[in-house]
Amino acid sequence: MSELSDLYQQVILDHNRRPRNRGKLPTANRVARGDNPSCGDQCCVYIRLDGERITDLSFDGSGCAISQASASLMTTQLKGKTAAEAQALFDEFKKIVTTGEAPEEMSDVAAFAGVSAFPARIKCATLGWHAALGALAAEPAGPAGSTNSASADASANPASAQPAASAAGAEDFGLSITTETHLD
Ligand code: ZN
Repeated sequence: MSELSDLYQQVILDHNRRPRNRGKLPTANRVARGDNPSCGDQCCVYIRLDGERITDLSFDGSGCAISQASASLMTTQLKGKTAAEAQALFDEFKKIVTTGEAPEEMSDVAAFAGVSAFPARIKCATLGWHAALGALAAEPAGPAGSTNSASADASANPASAQPAASAAGAEDFGLSITTETHLD
């Protein structure tokens, strides 16, 4: 089992050293930001949603290795998926990090099974995923300075950041997810 643990650690270390899809995505039309106050992690997720499909996504943020590696891995898992598939993948990931039960087939996602032994770290590991799900549930976001006629709430509320109505139970994890209607 120690060899497996080593391998899992390698996945997390690798994503932490070489984050995938990091930085703002200029073409994004769904954006959400996640905060994990208990650890100080921040993660902003940028998604290009075309129809039902995530054609591109990225993340940006700062925080502990677990939160950033998990967000990096999340972007590799969700690219090309539909919103429904993304939700299903998150449910699977949530199960892995809360129960420690990884699927039999080896996958990078299973690297996070060890997190289950550290309840505070579950927040870190799910932050990027919660932000992604929050972004998918959000109103479309436009480029900075654009008017967003699709979001009546945004025009009623001058602040562009809004609490995500459906952030996949983020509050149960003690996480705060806000969605952005304008890219800055
Ligand atoms: Zn953390």
